[in-house]
Amino acid sequence: MWSIEEFVRAAGVTVEELAAYVAESRRGDVPVLARRPPGELAERLGLAELIAKGGLTAETFRGFLRTYLAEGTRLHHPAYLAHQDAPPDFPAALADFVHGTANNLAAVYEMGAPATTVEIEVLKWMLAKVGFPRGGGVLTGGGSLANLTALLAARARAAPSAWDEGVPGDLVILAPDSAHYSIARAASILGLGRRAMVAVETDELGRIIPERLPDISGKRVMALVASACATGTGLHDDLRAIGEWCRARDVWFHVDAAHGASALLTTGHRHLLDGIELADSVIWDAHKMLAAASLAAAVLVRDERDLDAAFQQEASYLFYGDQGFDLLSRTLECTKGELGLKIFLNLAWRGERGLGEQVSRRYAAAHRFWELAGRRDGFALPYEPESNIVCFRYGDGDQAALRERLMDDGSFYLTSTELGGVRHLRLTVMSPATDDATLESLLDAIEAPHP
Ligand SMILES: *Cc1c(COP(=O)(O)O)cnc(C)c1O
Repeated sequence: MWSIEEFVRAAGVTVEELAAYVAESRRGDVPVLARRPPGELAERLGLAELIAKGGLTAETFRGFLRTYLAEGTRLHHPAYLAHQDAPPDFPAALADFVHGTANNLAAVYEMGAPATTVEIEVLKWMLAKVGFPRGGGVLTGGGSLANLTALLAARARAAPSAWDEGVPGDLVILAPDSAHYSIARAASILGLGRRAMVAVETDELGRIIPERLPDISGKRVMALVASACATGTGLHDDLRAIGEWCRARDVWFHVDAAHGASALLTTGHRHLLDGIELADSVIWDAHKMLAAASLAAAVLVRDERDLDAAFQQEASYLFYGDQGFDLLSRTLECTKGELGLKIFLNLAWRGERGLGEQVSRRYAAAHRFWELAGRRDGFALPYEPESNIVCFRYGDGDQAALRERLMDDGSFYLTSTELGGVRHLRLTVMSPATDDATLESLLDAIEAPHP
């Protein structure tokens, strides 16, 4: 089946097409997304015929790939201002290619000694950044799964017998309504039920008010969840004040830093994470601000034993010795990919400083948008951005319709969110290609009269 010669030819075609695609995307003179309906798209790609008959070759693959890429969403495009997914840096892209070819695994040492070792070393680096000297961690398939894993560890701490006996009815999770929806989902998956989610008081921008954290009686607080930063607004909770509240009460403090933990690598923004070392668990997505393709998320716990205890009643410690160690006991996954390699290769290529500068630049570009919009009439900007996420409104009209208009011809791609019950446009700067000219032309397009 595997002709080495054909592989080399096809891989060459792939690299050429991907290189052209990234270059074209970064120039920004093509639509950022195509939005063709699925039926038409299936036809254009010749899916039914290829599925029925096969027969793709290195040569015909070129045409297929070109169409496939052109019909997709261009994360490298300057006008890609939507979800928090990274335009991958190429070292991480190479890691995915290596994994796709060698398919070593990172859950069982024997199935990939370098894959597992790289993951462990990357985790050590992340733990040091967060400030967990006796911590432990694991990489997993995304922030949602990482939140679930961290809360599972919290459950094991609060109710060690839950693994065998089921979940006691008096556990609650404190979280603001602005927390990522995966937190409430985790409560249901973990068997606490949605009723166990207790909303804490927030200000009008969804930030926890530490002085108003509740005194819960008659219930056991399994965890308190804070965001760094909140998905909707990109704003950070006061981790130090909240962390001190948790420490004083021996409450598990979970920091959802899926998006914002990467700011630990910056000099200008790391203060936003001040107090993160007080957490019991932290999650950190590398596929957001560390320029890796999806998915690669870290679950980090302050006390390594808590993660080992998460998946069993009795913690049996990982074997550290000449025979290596299996991460299997720390994750929901059984077979697990080489997630560490993509983080490692970006680090090895760019250095910690280089990655931090990337974060700073994206944060600065979002701040720049806020400044530029503030100089124009008609823009409502409810807060000064702290990260690369900005919410705003233009005029009093339907903001969702405005978003549709901007996306209609593929000139811009941004999202929207509700803030204080009001629909806002939401912009996230992810691409290194986004510059002042992009932001000015977005503002012009928003202001442009339309029929
Ligand atoms: C993106 C995000 C998540 C979810 O992460 P996925 O990798 O998309 O599953 C969770 N929490 C926060 C704060 C996020 O920004």
